[in-house]
Amino acid sequence: MKITKDTVVTLRFKATDSKGKVLEDGKTPRAYLHGGYGNTLPGIELALENQEAGFSTTVTLQPALAFGDRDETLITAIPKAEFPPGVKVGGQIEGVDNQGVRKVFTVKKIKGDTVHLDANHPLAGEDLTFTLTVIEVRAASPEEVQHGHAHGAHGHHH
Ligand code: ZN
Repeated sequence: MKITKDTVVTLRFKATDSKGKVLEDGKTPRAYLHGGYGNTLPGIELALENQEAGFSTTVTLQPALAFGDRDETLITAIPKAEFPPGVKVGGQIEGVDNQGVRKVFTVKKIKGDTVHLDANHPLAGEDLTFTLTVIEVRAASPEEVQHGHAHGAHGHHH
């Protein structure tokens, strides 16, 4: 069976960043619903389109097909007093941006009484390399299509 819209793809993927740091070791299979549901990166869907079980490939994705470019306007400065103690540079906190959207912020730097927060995805702006191995391809159930994600052992659990 070929990977087309509304198929569930079980695959192993190994991911490394541009410095060769391993982000995902590929040991655990993952299942996703193919066809633009946002279950996986657009560049991964492109690389797997029309392929079958057993297919393996290595692709390097530019930020536009991975986690997007960095947006420097997403860095904000907030008084240190608004934070719980123990905030560290490189740490992550959950909060609300100025549009009221819940987001994960990375603490960029702490300067005096000001904390600089970055709402970019930690992998934004990175070229990422993926080694993908397709284990299984099957038709999605109507329920999976309705939910917009894969069910089953390596999929979404309710
Ligand atoms: Zn579901």
